[in-house]
Amino acid sequence: MEVLNAGHKSLQEGVLTKMYLESNEGLKSTYEPCPFCNSNEWTGVREGCDLCRPKYKKSFKLTRCSSCGYVMQNPRPSDLELSEAYSASSNYDCYRPAWKVPGWPVWKILRAWTTRRRISRLRRYGIGHEMLEVGCGAGDFLVAAHHAGWNVRAVEYNSSMADSIRSELGLDVRAGELALGLWDEEQIDVVAFWNVIEHLQDPLRELFISARYLRTGGRVFISIPTRQAAEYGQSFGQYWALLDLPRHLHFYDKTTLSRLCDKAGFELVVYETPFVQSAWGYYMSSWRWANRDGERRLPWFRFLALALVVTMFMPVVALRAMRKQGFEAFAVAVKR
Ligand SMILES: [Zn+2]
Repeated sequence: MEVLNAGHKSLQEGVLTKMYLESNEGLKSTYEPCPFCNSNEWTGVREGCDLCRPKYKKSFKLTRCSSCGYVMQNPRPSDLELSEAYSASSNYDCYRPAWKVPGWPVWKILRAWTTRRRISRLRRYGIGHEMLEVGCGAGDFLVAAHHAGWNVRAVEYNSSMADSIRSELGLDVRAGELALGLWDEEQIDVVAFWNVIEHLQDPLRELFISARYLRTGGRVFISIPTRQAAEYGQSFGQYWALLDLPRHLHFYDKTTLSRLCDKAGFELVVYETPFVQSAWGYYMSSWRWANRDGERRLPWFRFLALALVVTMFMPVVALRAMRKQGFEAFAVAVKR
């Protein structure tokens, strides 16, 4: 994989970040203390630009707590910064409604596969029949859960998406963030956060509110890129697909996710890191790297060559996933 380092300076940048943090004592006060262990000692993990805005050269930094291992963007981007980042990603994959699009383009097949996997997890780990989805995006999972017999409701930050699902499908989708007072408390059996927690400014707040809506014994489902997703794939630099800076703010492992759930009144009972998602991370990153910097010469040739190299690493990736060190985690936590 060393050949990949010829085109950029990812590893070098990682070292520079660390030195920067260690040698500028005065700057430490601009970094937040760790929300889990209150440590103020951070180590640079990597940095990268917003790939949705190729001309915007600001670099965003990921740091790891030296005490507990929690990885977060530090310093945290401002609300304005994030708002601009989301506006620039208006073609963000999760906002393409598969239920509205005729035919079967590749992205729709992949989306259907993801939805099917999520429904099978709902069947396997879910209880009752009342479900709330936080951040339903284009609504594909919500629609599928509705067809599978669940009473569904959702919140979605993108108001035009929320309006579209509500008016066109008649499902109870509220625009904005999760808040108290939207529905009766202690009536929900499952709250689903599919690739949402990593985007939230304050995940603990949203988990607290989820706990209020859930019955005792109710469950939260969480899928999230892991701490390993932030740490591995350095050879791909900022083209590593799991970074998605600055929109991804947090990267947990089993220990830190368990602490987060515990603080909100939940017990983490399932933590898996499926191989398929880790493998996807490598192939997606290969595609992004092959198309880097807007170059248009032979991206398919570069991608296939890279995919061949990546495939040789798959046994290692599978082993990591089995050891719960894959790049995306699926977790279930039960309300105490
Ligand atoms: Zn910590």
